[in-house]
Amino acid sequence: SYQDEQSEDYLFKVVLIGDSAVGKSNLLSRYARNEFNSNSKATIGVEFQTQSMEIDGKELKAQIWDTAGQERFRAVTSAYYRGAVGALIVYDITRRGTFENVSRWFDELKVHSDANVVVMLVGNKSDLAHIREVTAEEATALAEKNTMYFMETSALEAVNVVEAFQTVLKEIHKIVS
Ligand code: GDP
Ligand code: MG
Repeated sequence: SYQDEQSEDYLFKVVLIGDSAVGKSNLLSRYARNEFNSNSKATIGVEFQTQSMEIDGKELKAQIWDTAGQERFRAVTSAYYRGAVGALIVYDITRRGTFENVSRWFDELKVHSDANVVVMLVGNKSDLAHIREVTAEEATALAEKNTMYFMETSALEAVNVVEAFQTVLKEIHKIVS
């Protein structure tokens, strides 16, 4: 169940998915610790961060999972997705291939997670808009077609990062409350 037995608080599992080097780990470190690492270091093992926010006077806890460098298609196991009620599918606006793989990530997510899973499509690295290969318009169209929210973010410049995570958490909260 979504509800914690001890308190009346909620604990939600949210997963980060998307191709390698799109910025998943940095989005999470920016959100959870307000940190950014310019050197991409491979994550060893599945990592998650627990982050709290308050909605309607209730504490809402999110357990946000980051892939363990398993981004090669189909390498992310079903255990990673299991029980997820929210997901951020991340691509890099400067690398078209990472956007073209979004549908595969979306399909994988739908196979393994809750039917009501709240999905946010995230176009990261908006600070590099001068070398973008994906327009916001086509990403918006893809998001609308698949009932995803959409935001462009910059983990580097801390733009829309909190907003992206909080939108997912608020929508999950609406569904379960
Ligand atoms: P992951 O493999 O998806 O977890 O990606 P990382 O978080 O490890 O980031 C991959 C690379 O992209 C690293 O060199 C980061 O410094 C860089 N990066 C991540 N987010 C941003 C961003 O918003 N803007 C820019 N310019 N670089 C970023
Ligand atoms: Mg990573």
